[in-house]
Amino acid sequence: MKYFLLLLLHLSLFAATVEYERWPKGETFLTFLEHEKLPQATYYDLDKEDQKLTEEIRSGFNYQVLRDDNGSLTQALILVNDELQLHLTCKSMKECDVRAIPIISTTKREAFMLKIENSPYYDIQKATGSKSLAQIFVNGFKNSLNFRRDLRKGDKLVMIYDQKYRFGKPFSMPTLQVAMIEMRGKKHSIYLNSDERYYDEKGRQVEGFLLARPVKNARISSKFTKRRYHPILKRYRAHLGIDYAARRGTPIMAAGSGKVIFAGRTRGYGNLTKIRHSDGYVTLYAHQKSFRRGIKRGKYVKQGQIIGYVGTTGLSTGPHLHFGLYKNGRAINPARVVRVTTKKLSGKARKAFLKIKKDLDAQVAFHVKAQTKAKRMDDYQYIYYLDREEEKKEATQ
Ligand SMILES: [Zn+2]
Repeated sequence: MKYFLLLLLHLSLFAATVEYERWPKGETFLTFLEHEKLPQATYYDLDKEDQKLTEEIRSGFNYQVLRDDNGSLTQALILVNDELQLHLTCKSMKECDVRAIPIISTTKREAFMLKIENSPYYDIQKATGSKSLAQIFVNGFKNSLNFRRDLRKGDKLVMIYDQKYRFGKPFSMPTLQVAMIEMRGKKHSIYLNSDERYYDEKGRQVEGFLLARPVKNARISSKFTKRRYHPILKRYRAHLGIDYAARRGTPIMAAGSGKVIFAGRTRGYGNLTKIRHSDGYVTLYAHQKSFRRGIKRGKYVKQGQIIGYVGTTGLSTGPHLHFGLYKNGRAINPARVVRVTTKKLSGKARKAFLKIKKDLDAQVAFHVKAQTKAKRMDDYQYIYYLDREEEKKEATQ
């Protein structure tokens, strides 16, 4: 991995042999191999998990190619998410190998305090250059506070978040640790707890807009992870969704209201339904035994409505629902945005949360006192390099 990066950097100093490209619309890993005249077995020899991983490559994703003097591809790095990339190496045009390797990045904890001039959304975007931070802040308080009514000019807010950096540039979505807003002298905060969910100062969960579980009485058999190392296979893996093991035929419900944008058969995900919700969110329901009658592209569904039945179609090892959540084309952890019925922490979990809260409150107090200024992120890039046009298209699809 290190060797490859060094090699790329080294070569790029001398010749223009490294090409930086965007993954074209409609391209799959198989068609990519075909265009490059590389063996299709490169894909078919992969195990199921790795084959599924190749389906995560999306149009607009950035990739790099290294070619020999004849123009034949010798290596390629293709992004899968902000943690993993596929490394394709070809010894000859007949023999290639592909492996998921980690994307090396560093994470910095960043913070800022600002006084309201206009609105939280506008002021945060103006101060940081990041629409994501502005959106994260507003969503966090959307269901509990009324900024328009209660906010006054000069009120304070603080955000503390983790930001990834790669080659010195910020990339990928920031992870909010704590957000605080003081309105008319009263502080309101939300905190990221160790269960990866957000809670307010009283230990009540911040409500999201999605159902906690799209399948009733199901057991989570696989959690969301952007990157994990499989010690036996000695390979990197990602699981960009949550798996719910349930009996074949168990009804699947729409996690939120929205419009069906896809209902059909795919290779990896089998019978697949995708639903588009507001704010650029899309939910995905894979490996279904069958669709519910009438569920097809263009249909509007309500939260909780049955859309299909658990099965094991596609690249699947047993009956389960693979539930995915995407925001503007990026896979995100559904556990972070779902609405859970157990509303308030209690007992041990509450104690543990209060410890985290105390520490985060101290950090907030520090930045209020220090009047920490926001760092502008004008060169902020999503790892996927989706351009605005692409993003807009995806949001309106
Ligand atoms: Zn899965």
